[in-house]
Amino acid sequence: MVQSSITMTQTSYFDFESNKVSQKLSFGAFVTFAPLTNRMIYITRKETFSAAHKLSRQDWSEEKNREMFGKCANPNWHGHNYDLTVTVKGEMNPDTGFVANLSDIGKILKSKVIDKVDHRNLNMDVDFMQGKLPSTEVLATEIWNQLEKDINALGCKLHSIKIQETDKNYVEYFGN
Ligand SMILES: [Zn+2]
Repeated sequence: MVQSSITMTQTSYFDFESNKVSQKLSFGAFVTFAPLTNRMIYITRKETFSAAHKLSRQDWSEEKNREMFGKCANPNWHGHNYDLTVTVKGEMNPDTGFVANLSDIGKILKSKVIDKVDHRNLNMDVDFMQGKLPSTEVLATEIWNQLEKDINALGCKLHSIKIQETDKNYVEYFGN
């Protein structure tokens, strides 16, 4: 074992060659843990946005829309304050200790989603929601599609999209 590496604590050593952490026990023996890069880590970024929408089908009567979609079928629109929580998974970069830089993930969320939906009308203003019923479920799957390529380019993978529409209701999508 190479011990010319940095000392993590008085009794722990990180070996850059094997990418493993070894710890010296009180009685002098060393125990070596699994390589840091083989550990799947989940990191999460949360953003918020406010948007208007209306859930209604043109081929249904106003009564049927109201019966199915409740208040969200209101003909003159309404809004929600949404929480968007995005979890990404990957292996830790041993040089940085990061799976990915969360500020980079924040920039992707801002340009691909938040800038497009915040203070907008989800039915009318948002390119990736055109022609789609803006339920929270549909929104979660479309946001996944917006983010997947750019998250992959960071060397990690999308794990989940969670959207909280009200205090009582939230939706999670895991990409399948
Ligand atoms: Zn609504």
